[in-house]
Amino acid sequence: MFNPLFSHSRRNLARWFTGSMGSILVVFAATLFFLETQEQMRAFDQELLNKSRTMAAAVKYRLHEGRWRVELSDVPVLGSNSIPYDNEVQYVRWYDRQGQLVRFVGALPPEQLAIAPGFVTLSTPQLLRQITLPVFQNQDAIGYLQVAVPLTPVRTNLRQIRLFLSVGVPLSLAVIGVAGWLLGGFAMQPIQAAYERLQRFTADASHELRSPLAALLSNIQIGIVKPAANLETQERRLQKLVEITKSMTVLVNNLLLLARYEGSLPASTLKVVDLVPLLKDMAGTFETEATQHHLRFGCTLPDHPLTVMADADLLQRAIANLLNNALKYTPPGGTIELRLTATNQQALIQVKDTGIGIPEAFLQFIFERFYRVDQVRTPDHQRPKKSGGFGLGLAIAQQIIQAHGGKIHVASTEGSGSCFTIELPLINHRFRLLRSS
Ligand code: ADP
Repeated sequence: MFNPLFSHSRRNLARWFTGSMGSILVVFAATLFFLETQEQMRAFDQELLNKSRTMAAAVKYRLHEGRWRVELSDVPVLGSNSIPYDNEVQYVRWYDRQGQLVRFVGALPPEQLAIAPGFVTLSTPQLLRQITLPVFQNQDAIGYLQVAVPLTPVRTNLRQIRLFLSVGVPLSLAVIGVAGWLLGGFAMQPIQAAYERLQRFTADASHELRSPLAALLSNIQIGIVKPAANLETQERRLQKLVEITKSMTVLVNNLLLLARYEGSLPASTLKVVDLVPLLKDMAGTFETEATQHHLRFGCTLPDHPLTVMADADLLQRAIANLLNNALKYTPPGGTIELRLTATNQQALIQVKDTGIGIPEAFLQFIFERFYRVDQVRTPDHQRPKKSGGFGLGLAIAQQIIQAHGGKIHVASTEGSGSCFTIELPLINHRFRLLRSS
């Protein structure tokens, strides 16, 4: 179901689609009809011309008693002085070279030829096509043959085409209208989904910012209404303000990051990055942190370089989000492992922990922005303070990896741990294969 904004756009889209496709269809049908009319008339005229030529060929021009005479007795129709019953010829006339009527069969003609040679359509009660053909003997015109036939066959054919088009065009227009409506719906679906995602994101971001802002305001108001009794209280209050501001800065930075790296990264920001030293570096930092959290930390890296095209800072950010989660969601005594391997074309970075894991039902949502499993698992008032972040870490990691043309996925069992895997396209796998062979 579309919201009114998108229903309106869908209607407009369908209207425009039907309008433009409909106009093309109407123009196409009109052109087709016009060309067909031309073609039918051309074929009809050719047939009439052939018939008239056959008649003209039977006209004889003889010297009789010292004078040249035109003899018409062998001319079909005209010679027999009657029109055969099944003949479609309406009339045949012969005019001499001065245009005087000499002989005719069929309707009563004018005495004098008043029309130039060629074809003409006459609308007598019946629509007729008439040809006036000059007949020559040794380059000299000896007379004019005029033949007329009814245009009925052409009219019948054209009437059928018209009938077909007048039913077919509106029917096609209706189909186009329905198709436009359906296509409009298909086109609107992803736009509405993106719009709703954006709306949800804005609402979530505002919601996340509202709580620290309210805390900030109440702390400042307390400071104004009830000045601190001593320096220590004053310092505690200021420390609280610093904490709230820091958390807001983190949130705003995360939101900026998400907004900035939507889509793929420009090629100019990508450099050749060897993952081995990059991960070794990160392992050093996180090993110290893991020890502070009473966790074991393991790191397995290959002894040869594995290079990818990447923005090293962003890539570190994505991996750090996974490692931070592993630290956050693994109870003391557990193990965290960072591992780098490769398939033929992909580098695989894995962050594995023996932490609390993620219930299967929530796995499909954890990469969504602002999604936190503990929010679903535990009602607000029972939730331990600061158990997680804003629910943006995995969304950021996924966005960064996708912007690098890679993929991120997770396998997890509630209670026994999680394993996040990043797949990145390698640039040196061909080179490595060549070297090892
Ligand atoms: P957060 O900042 O809340 O950690 P993330 O987007 O990084 O947000 O993670 C989303 C949710 O996924 C977390 O709230 C947490 O419930 C779950 N999660 C992420 N990583 C792990 C992990 N390694 N072990 C258990 N749960 C995890």
